[in-house]
Amino acid sequence: MGDFLQSELEKAQQCLLETYELAASYGDNEEKDTSKYLQLMEEICQIREVAIRNEDALKVAMEERSVAAFESAFRGAVNRAEKKFQAKKTREYKKFANRLEEASRSASSDTIPSNKTKDGALVEMDMQVNIYDPITKKRMVDPVKNTICGHIYEMKSIQDAIQIKPRLRCPVAGCGNNQYINMSHLKPDNGLKLHLQRIAEGENNNDSDD
Ligand SMILES: [Zn+2]
Repeated sequence: MGDFLQSELEKAQQCLLETYELAASYGDNEEKDTSKYLQLMEEICQIREVAIRNEDALKVAMEERSVAAFESAFRGAVNRAEKKFQAKKTREYKKFANRLEEASRSASSDTIPSNKTKDGALVEMDMQVNIYDPITKKRMVDPVKNTICGHIYEMKSIQDAIQIKPRLRCPVAGCGNNQYINMSHLKPDNGLKLHLQRIAEGENNNDSDD
């Protein structure tokens, strides 16, 4: 199969997995339903299989020296291969299914904001992702994560704070990160952003219902 198609299919698969990881942490029950993702993965396997099959059939057909013979060799080879193929039995599909399961398990063990805790209150506080900016105390819109300590801030307010004080340490009380914050430490937290958007949408819907 062509390298281009191969790499596009791998990207699609990766994208699907990342979408699920987001959904598993922040999505509603419908979005958490793995069957949709598995079905799409099945289709990805099928596309890959069709590409391989066509390539093989083409090789067989190219040995023929008339159009009719070419056509019949090509179709014959495609059909023979088609009968055997079961996407769910492929290595790629099984691997994908396992990774979905892992993502689902890890999401349910640290869902936010959750009151479940295995090791007492302290752990709970650490695990709970705050939706409020530690600087302005307002609910965030564009959260960025400090990749050194994991704390999250509103993008605008941390940028402003660095402008005012270039040698700024993580403003979260009790944070053990001693490094001055550098823009390169900050990474958009798209999962949390989605979660915040959901909260905002929910509020808007409630408003219009009244
Ligand atoms: Zn911190």
